[in-house]
Amino acid sequence: MNADPLELQKFADLAHRWWDPTSEFRPLHEINPLRLEWINARVPLAGKKVIDIGCGGGILSESMARKGADVTGIDLGEKALKVADLHSLESGVPVRYKLIAAEAMAAEEPGQYDVVTCMEMLEHVPDPGAIVRAAATLVKPGGHVFFSTLNRNPKSYLFAILGAEYILRMLPKGTHDYEKFITPSELSQYARSAGLEVQGFKGMGYNPFTKFYSLNSDTSVNYLVATTRPL
Ligand code: SAH
Repeated sequence: MNADPLELQKFADLAHRWWDPTSEFRPLHEINPLRLEWINARVPLAGKKVIDIGCGGGILSESMARKGADVTGIDLGEKALKVADLHSLESGVPVRYKLIAAEAMAAEEPGQYDVVTCMEMLEHVPDPGAIVRAAATLVKPGGHVFFSTLNRNPKSYLFAILGAEYILRMLPKGTHDYEKFITPSELSQYARSAGLEVQGFKGMGYNPFTKFYSLNSDTSVNYLVATTRPL
């Protein structure tokens, strides 16, 4: 199984606080509008069939469903999925959540989705290339696949680990493991070997003084990539 039990446990321990915007998940709440609008500008989500890999408590999944997409969220964290389900019931925004590995889902439903998203997840799995292949299998020809992760270089170590976990304490210590960070060229390589075309990268920056995130062209720490499956 392409999953690290310790990684899954980290998220399980915090899962009950997933929708608390002041909790450990605050960064996900704050970046969500940015990534959602970035995706929606590239492919208007209304009416699209979407699968969100590593959906956790459903912050991105539910927001895409609010845009009118038909969303399936998958994860291997049982607690997070329960929280996601409850939140969807309470908010009245329907999302289908399922406990299944991306690779197994790809075998069940190949070529079924207009859009595949996989955000802030690849840096937590043993074999990210296999997740990228699963995403490429799930998407329809002509469809879109979006990933986000953390770059690997001295600056990302300084910002994403020392800055976010030790100095600003935005994330619990040990949230991220520097060795598992993925450079844009590695991610491009995974995408291309899976038959996806890389359309563009976007950087995501955090200003510790204003406490605001923004999208820019600096992919040195947090970044997103847009890819498509050729027709
Ligand atoms: N994508 C969501 C959550 C990111 S947190 C968002 O950006 O809002 C990372 C998520 O990845 C957690 O929910 C964790 O359970 C999940 N995860 C970690 N390893 C996984 C694996 N091997 N397969 C599926 N999900 C995994």
